[in-house]
Amino acid sequence: MSADRFDGLREEVRRNIPSGIDITSIDLEGPLVVIYTKDFDKFSENSNITKVLATQLKKRFEIRPDPKTLGATDEVEEKIRARIPEEAGVTGMFFDYDTGVVTVEAVNPGSIIGKGGQQLNDMKKETGWNVQAVRSPPIPSKTVKEVRGYIRYARDERAEILKRIGRRIARPTYDNGEQYVRMTALGGFRQVGRSATLLMTKESKILIDCGLDPSSDATPYFSVPEIQPLSDLDAVVITHAHMDHCGLLPALFKYGYDGPVYCTPPTRDLMALLQLDSIKLIYGEGKKIPFDAKNVRDEVLHVIPIGYEKTTDISPDVRLTFYNAGHILGSSIAHFNIGNGFHNVAFTGDTKFEKTWLFNQACNKFIRLESIVVESTYGGRNDMQPSRMDASKEMFDLLKQAADSNGKVLIPVFAVGRSQEVMLVIEELMRSGRLPKMPVYLDGMIWEATAIHTAYPEYLNTSLKTQIFQQNENPFLSPIFKRVETAEMREEICHSPDPCIVLATSGMMTGGPVMEYFKEWCDDPNTWLLFVGYQSENSIGRTIQRGRKDISLNDRGKVINLDIKMNIETVDGFSGHSDRKQLMKYISMLEPKPSKIVVGHGEDRKCVDFASSLYQKYRIETKAPLNLETIRLK
Ligand SMILES: [Zn+2]
Ligand SMILES: [Zn+2]
Repeated sequence: MSADRFDGLREEVRRNIPSGIDITSIDLEGPLVVIYTKDFDKFSENSNITKVLATQLKKRFEIRPDPKTLGATDEVEEKIRARIPEEAGVTGMFFDYDTGVVTVEAVNPGSIIGKGGQQLNDMKKETGWNVQAVRSPPIPSKTVKEVRGYIRYARDERAEILKRIGRRIARPTYDNGEQYVRMTALGGFRQVGRSATLLMTKESKILIDCGLDPSSDATPYFSVPEIQPLSDLDAVVITHAHMDHCGLLPALFKYGYDGPVYCTPPTRDLMALLQLDSIKLIYGEGKKIPFDAKNVRDEVLHVIPIGYEKTTDISPDVRLTFYNAGHILGSSIAHFNIGNGFHNVAFTGDTKFEKTWLFNQACNKFIRLESIVVESTYGGRNDMQPSRMDASKEMFDLLKQAADSNGKVLIPVFAVGRSQEVMLVIEELMRSGRLPKMPVYLDGMIWEATAIHTAYPEYLNTSLKTQIFQQNENPFLSPIFKRVETAEMREEICHSPDPCIVLATSGMMTGGPVMEYFKEWCDDPNTWLLFVGYQSENSIGRTIQRGRKDISLNDRGKVINLDIKMNIETVDGFSGHSDRKQLMKYISMLEPKPSKIVVGHGEDRKCVDFASSLYQKYRIETKAPLNLETIRLK
């Protein structure tokens, strides 16, 4: 959209708004069209106006009160408090002058909103502010608080960034030349790790994921000419917060990227948490650090969070929509509508096509779909996983065996996803009395990651969401869970003779607190090491899982040799990835049927095998490209 086109849009907006509503200005802010009005209450009374605008003009709108109409915060707070009943249990009130939103955080937000939103509307009318009521998070999260606090603190800088992004999305386009769509595999193809794909259209360049390979620290091929200079990129889209999808993103800002990052709100918070943690981990191992905390802050400031199923313009010819991927909190399938329907391609990221203890199954229905880029972590023909039920049964058997002999159990987990599922299973077993109650220690970022889960209940599956809303039934608040907060506490648990269960990171034993317990316990035959997650080919976890009894580790600069007498067990079925059967089913149940499938995110032979099986079964064109290959999608 050129300047003229923006003027045209302004005209159309004014035409679609009933006369008698005073509009002060219409601006672009990132992908949003922001309308400032002196008659904010009229908009809230007639919520239909925004819907009509969105459908008519195919843009995302936000209506804000004209800053001049906003009352002083202390007076407004008094007025709002006077209207809120005691039982609401207000825990905080946050004012945002730029958007005119005041967020009231409460234990019972319903009693603030009132019947049919009447009370909320009255408050809006009285104060001029856009009053919103949200539920207080059951477990306070330091990350959520810090991320929101930082965005508030750096709001002038952020406003500049959003204006610049808005102008860029509305830039003039070349009106001649044919349209095309192609993608270059920059990492994560015929391998698991360092996921990165460049999507190129006639007008735009978009990077999807920007990962690290956690087992080798290899990075995507960012030196290729297609992606240079980084300032040519229109957007980075992150499917989810695992390091193999976002671990290198802060470094992109270090090397000069200055554009938007699109992801879901929980992905933004989890990503910041895991990246900051990785700095600590890498530092502890004495390795070279690819980025620092400042780069992570930069990244956070450039994130434009988008919830599921909210279509958003991200460049002159690309619209992005996120759908649930069922893999971890906030994980998404990124769907791109290119050239106003010229081509539609979806990137599944990592995906689970089964309802889990945490999430609903991945979305398989799209408005349009011609190409899909799909993961194949468990795409090999023998990669069958037990059901969630069988997995918890097996976990019960092993935990029972350990409990009967007063043994200790160590479970290496990713902080995000698997830990929360394993927590839910153990909590259920102990609550029902099938397993004796004993402390379950959470070490590494697990506690904080769990807090972030409870801050975004709308991203969890329906039954868990209900449980969390009922304070007394929130399984994550069970007293069996104990947070390991200091090295001394860890030391004490390591040397205690009492039976316990420890969930610790990192999930593939490439470092982190899990190694402290392992080093201490591995020569004790009355201890158990339980794998529940994916172990990549070169990881230490995979070596131990395969049954090697003597391993040497780098321990703070010196090599130590370990003799493993611990019981090594694997419980399959906890994976956040679809297994072979679920992947095949997912493709067969896609609506509409795509005409091209690109396979990635799997070990070499699994990508190839899955791609050829798909072709044989469904006669759809498939490709399993190598890194550095470019494919024309249309
Ligand atoms: Zn993942
Ligand atoms: Zn992944």
